[in-house]
Amino acid sequence: MTQWRSLAERMVREQIKARGVRSEAVLEAMGSVPRHLFLDEALRESAWIDSPLPIGEDQTISQPYMVARMTELLSPARGESVLEIGTGSGYQAAVLSAMGAKVTSLERIASLADRARKRLDGLGFDVRVIWSDGSPENRPGGPFDGVIVTAAAPELDEWWSEVLFPGGRLVVPLSVVSGGQRIFLRKKTAAGEYEDTWHDYCRFVPLLKGRMEKGSGG
Ligand code: SAH
Repeated sequence: MTQWRSLAERMVREQIKARGVRSEAVLEAMGSVPRHLFLDEALRESAWIDSPLPIGEDQTISQPYMVARMTELLSPARGESVLEIGTGSGYQAAVLSAMGAKVTSLERIASLADRARKRLDGLGFDVRVIWSDGSPENRPGGPFDGVIVTAAAPELDEWWSEVLFPGGRLVVPLSVVSGGQRIFLRKKTAAGEYEDTWHDYCRFVPLLKGRMEKGSGG
């Protein structure tokens, strides 16, 4: 299965570069992470298509382009600390880790958190996966250079901004009044002020409250 590298290269060229992602660090990381190994055996052949895919528990691994775009907006430098909310398969965390970020990732469904932790360990990615829904009782302390939320939020949670270092970035798909969601980027300046911008329209599974052993219906 060395063939995956050429499939990954093609994905980067046709789905990601072609749509305007320019960061060399992001393109390189997307070409280096074995996306197929974040999926169940039966879905591995589909790993490189231009689409989100099911990962069990009613959840999905995000579309490759969306992972790349959000990572580019987050722009983690080597050695920076990043908090991800929504581990899912662990793929986004692996991409961040491949870029040299120190990643802490939260997942509210225990079975997904366990699976992602084992998978990331097995592939040699040094990611801290925590069974957490981000609520005050089970959230990590921070601060972080970046926060990336990979589930759709109805509104901003103040904690995500507070936990950023000055100079830090927050990337989150936020629900918009016109329906659907849009990627929101917040930069915290050295003076602690916020610079907010809106980016791509998107479709993520919802950010939910409460920790669970297994996903309902999954
Ligand atoms: N980043 C993932 C895909 C995310 S799917 C990947 O690369 O595969 C969204 C994930 O967020 C799901 O696994 C869902 O269970 C989780 N989630 C939803 N609400 C959450 C919350 N409040 N805290 C932590 N995880 C949450």
